[in-house]
Amino acid sequence: MASGTFFVKSCVTCGRLLEIRVELLGKKVECVHCGAGFIAREANDDPDAERVEQALALAQAYIDSVASVARNNTAASRGC
Ligand SMILES: [Zn+2]
Repeated sequence: MASGTFFVKSCVTCGRLLEIRVELLGKKVECVHCGAGFIAREANDDPDAERVEQALALAQAYIDSVASVARNNTAASRGC
């Protein structure tokens, strides 16, 4: 599995360039410069993107709820 692959996108809020991991495409990311959250995607002109975003947001909320449990379990097993 390739890791460390990034694409460059400008922040929708502050316009500064961000390096975003490709696996975060379509997911909500946070600008390291201004802290604004937005959906990472390569193109902004897809008319279906908003609906996709909504579906992804729902999916992400579910993933987050599962991941937070997994993180807690991982942290507990690490003892830190
Ligand atoms: Zn920003």
